[in-house]
Amino acid sequence: MTPTSPTGPTDVLAPYFLGAFGENNDLLEEVLVELVRDHVYWRRNFHPDDAPPISTAAQFDSGYQQRVAGMKRELHRLAAQLKRSVPTFHPRYIGHMTSDLLLPGLIAQLVTTLYNPNNIVEEVAPVTLALEHEVGQQLCRMVGYRTDGGALPCGAGHLTSGGTLANDEALFLARAVKLAPLAVRDACEATGVWLEPALRDSDDFDLLGWSTERCLALVHRALRTPGVSEAFAAARVEARGLVEFAYSHPVAGQTVVVAPASAHYSWAKAMRLLGLGDNQLLMVPTCEGRMDVDALEATLSRLAVNRTPVLAVVGVYGTTEFGSFDELHRIAALRRSDRAFWFHVDAAWGGYLPSVFRESDGSLRAHEHVSADFKHFPSERVYRSTAALAEADSITVDPHKLGYVPYGAGAFLCRDRRAFELAMQQAAYVFTSDADDEARFRNAGRFSLEGSRPGAAAAAVALNHRVLPLDHAHYGQLLSRSVQACEALYDLVPMLGQRLDGLAQVAVPFEPDCNVLGLAFNPRGNRSLAAANAFTRRLFESLAVQPAKEAGGEAAFFGSCTTVPLAHLGRPERARVSEALGVDLATPDAPGIFMLRHTLMNPWLLCSPDGSAQSWVDAYVAHLERLVRQLAS
Ligand SMILES: *Cc1c(COP(=O)(O)O)cnc(C)c1O
Repeated sequence: MTPTSPTGPTDVLAPYFLGAFGENNDLLEEVLVELVRDHVYWRRNFHPDDAPPISTAAQFDSGYQQRVAGMKRELHRLAAQLKRSVPTFHPRYIGHMTSDLLLPGLIAQLVTTLYNPNNIVEEVAPVTLALEHEVGQQLCRMVGYRTDGGALPCGAGHLTSGGTLANDEALFLARAVKLAPLAVRDACEATGVWLEPALRDSDDFDLLGWSTERCLALVHRALRTPGVSEAFAAARVEARGLVEFAYSHPVAGQTVVVAPASAHYSWAKAMRLLGLGDNQLLMVPTCEGRMDVDALEATLSRLAVNRTPVLAVVGVYGTTEFGSFDELHRIAALRRSDRAFWFHVDAAWGGYLPSVFRESDGSLRAHEHVSADFKHFPSERVYRSTAALAEADSITVDPHKLGYVPYGAGAFLCRDRRAFELAMQQAAYVFTSDADDEARFRNAGRFSLEGSRPGAAAAAVALNHRVLPLDHAHYGQLLSRSVQACEALYDLVPMLGQRLDGLAQVAVPFEPDCNVLGLAFNPRGNRSLAAANAFTRRLFESLAVQPAKEAGGEAAFFGSCTTVPLAHLGRPERARVSEALGVDLATPDAPGIFMLRHTLMNPWLLCSPDGSAQSWVDAYVAHLERLVRQLAS
């Protein structure tokens, strides 16, 4: 089937963006004015008999007016400065992971800020905490987690300031859960109450291999057993600190985290924050930009032989560089009943793509139904990885990336919400009823790593989800369009190569999995990687935002760039890229391949800029051809 082309008045997404030309300006203005007035009425109707502290007469005072003028001058200056911003809303912008924002979320954020709720406790955010709970549940269901409180595991999610914080939280919880059996055993020993015979019979290494489910069931019991619960609280790593904990449990001090070499640098930060260090973060080699799962398997076997416990394995659902998907189904399958690890998926980038795979009732669509809207997507790997998200213990999703909401809105999702019991600050160590459980998980402020949090972000995400539910017919349409634009660009590369014949070679070193594409160039006849990189870098310079100048004016299109270390390429890949690009990678003279990197997020990339049959993507390829010709001649 051909992609649904976004043209004309029938475009279902047209009302939901301000638009490249501000086409929906009236809509934005009308609704904003309406809702600002509505807010003012609300203020006025709160104890209308009180005397207003700012007197009406004061507003005619000349000092007052001078101060207003000063404030306006500064605001106008800011507005002027902001004109040097990057025009990320435009189809000419295909650089970093950002684009125009969905209007419902944008307006919700602006308007909710007037009420300034803090999602730390219900007392200051009765409305937006409930909205946060709602979006947590929606995101959980999109990735395939169950959310009905009656059955185990019951998923839960909450918002964070971004993907980095969500990854921090993942590691924090993974450690809390994985080390808990050691602390429970210490508590049993101290109290003489043995909750499980296995605790007495296993050594530390064995306990560290317990599955998440088994750890959480144990914690659940420990927290509800008087005496044990207090002793457990005192024995936990969070109470004793890692140094002292590892002193009595040396093997716990050797735990490692395993992630692909393509993982985001937030993982190194998360390790350092937890006092684990770079040496405990093992990077598995990648091939084709994805984790080499055979290498992961070999690493896990080696670690098992050395009796090194694995705290967590991180899989990536959409890398930051190229949107590549790790084979999550294969990673999930490597967990053994006696050698389990916390399985976290970093879907900060790809996290909204599962909407393309969901029916409105939440079920997973058949592969062929999803494929019907695309030429290549989704590969078997992407389809199976999406289905395997439900098996991950926790997932990071960034609404401020493919959710098209303003920064900062990240999200952390947990498959079994009981894990959050280990993150609660005022741990009510004697839990009473299931109804209490339900209430405790509704207030993310109690277990989030962050303190004060913007309720406006929750309102923004909630509004987007209400207007465009997370299924293929709604949010999925927007995401599909992004993938279709990437396919269109990808399919034009061979033609570009032909037209440049005699001047330069062009290659897509990593086949795109979703909506990010890398392009490398090499002037014809050149074999040196360093020279090819220099050529592509000069191309990039014509596509780069020039910080000193007015953005928007001169560059016809904006891209971004990246350098992929050759060490990230497997041997077959090196041969393929070497062949496609015509450079010598057997004796490379540069450590990595410099590439243009394009994120195709703008919803109008398949529209025509001039009413012709050509799309923005076609126009970009024609532009690239001109740039290469200029450079190569
Ligand atoms: C963007 C990104 C992050 C970091 O998220 P922030 O919202 O920038 O903090 C982490 N992992 C991946 C894969 C990402 O793409």
